[in-house]
Amino acid sequence: MIFELKGKTAVITGAAKGIGRAIAIALAKKGCNIVLNYRSAVKDELVKEIEDLGVKCVAVKADVSNFEEAENIIKTAKAETGSVDILVNNAGITRDGLLMRMSEKDFDDVINTNLKGAFNMVRHASSVMLKQKSGTIINISSVVGLIGNAGQANYASSKAGVIGLTKSAARELASRGITVNAVAPGFITTDMTDVLTEEQHKRMLENIPLKKAGSPEDVAEAVVFLAENRYITGQVLNVDGGMVMS
Ligand code: NDP
Repeated sequence: MIFELKGKTAVITGAAKGIGRAIAIALAKKGCNIVLNYRSAVKDELVKEIEDLGVKCVAVKADVSNFEEAENIIKTAKAETGSVDILVNNAGITRDGLLMRMSEKDFDDVINTNLKGAFNMVRHASSVMLKQKSGTIINISSVVGLIGNAGQANYASSKAGVIGLTKSAARELASRGITVNAVAPGFITTDMTDVLTEEQHKRMLENIPLKKAGSPEDVAEAVVFLAENRYITGQVLNVDGGMVMS
């Protein structure tokens, strides 16, 4: 049964560009009011594009790795729209480097944003959802959280941690009708992957059975699917052109 999203509030972290932006637009097209978190800047045009879809759009500046700032996103969502029905933990960074040369700071920064940031948001959103006795949380992980990746020990650890967080939260919150799932994208064309060299790009495509990179919209469609289904919980949905099959 499709769960009706019209009129629900969706909070999306790191939504000013890339995958987060596509998720915000896709959920707005389904009639969700959007609370769009950004860290450095968000273009007025994006807020207008979402409002033009006939929904409310509230932009909240916050660093999700900061516990209080994360709480403020949820408080603002509740104050401005009355509920928090969907949380998408999308904010993420990479600081790639081989293990032997990886600085402590690069390890900590990635864990703090990707894993602790997701924890902070789940922690604050779940207290609202528990009272509502409904809600869904979708965490954006990565296929490298499942299979690892040379040069990404920090990032892969954070994304594997996100999967552990997802499954634990799913078990803990299920009795109140709250579902928690992860989406694990493979190779998606965004600013994050724009930094790859042509050679790295070629090598990535060799490992993708569908022989092409995905788009942010491909990931957004998976998020909408999970948001509209309330009998799937604790799962990881790969959106990766077949890169990882389990
Ligand atoms: P982008 O770099 O395009 O966007 C990431 C967004 O996260 C930016 O808007 C950034 O804001 C925001 N952000 C970063 N740190 C914070 C923070 N501490 N608090 C709030 N917002 C923050 O990346 P993608 O769109 O490609 O990635 C989105 C998610 O998908 C990430 O979690 C990523 O790990 C994951 N993913 C991406 C894949 C890909 O191939 N692109 C593959 C697998 C997973 P700002 O620009 O202001 O720093």
